[in-house]
Amino acid sequence: MGFLDDVISTGKNVVSAAGKKTDEAVRFSKLKIKESQLNGDIRNKFETLGSLIYQMAKSGEKNSEQFDALVAELDDCYAQLEEISQQFDEMRNEVTCPSCGAKSKTDNSYCSKCGAKLPVKPEPAEENADVIDETKDGE
Ligand SMILES: [Zn+2]
Repeated sequence: MGFLDDVISTGKNVVSAAGKKTDEAVRFSKLKIKESQLNGDIRNKFETLGSLIYQMAKSGEKNSEQFDALVAELDDCYAQLEEISQQFDEMRNEVTCPSCGAKSKTDNSYCSKCGAKLPVKPEPAEENADVIDETKDGE
């Protein structure tokens, strides 16, 4: 009986640990997919932008509304890419140097490449790593 209980509970622990790892892996691959989709989007938008510029040069007419819209869409894509890269950093416990863009471990205070001060990342919470508590600044 006791042995079986042990086996069952150990089994449960293994499953939950594996489940957590799988969650991470799923999250990672989902981000990877989103990242490549965004990069594809960006390429497409640049292509559209290029042909729009070509048409404008050919016709001598300015279609600045469509042009501005495309630029805004590209900005949006870049912002989303930035967000994704921050999430990757978080998962790898890394921060991106604001000065040179090199990756450092979160426990470093200064960039190992250029020596710039690194942004302080909040301690990752045990359960809800996704929730960043910003009310703790005063401590
Ligand atoms: Zn740096």
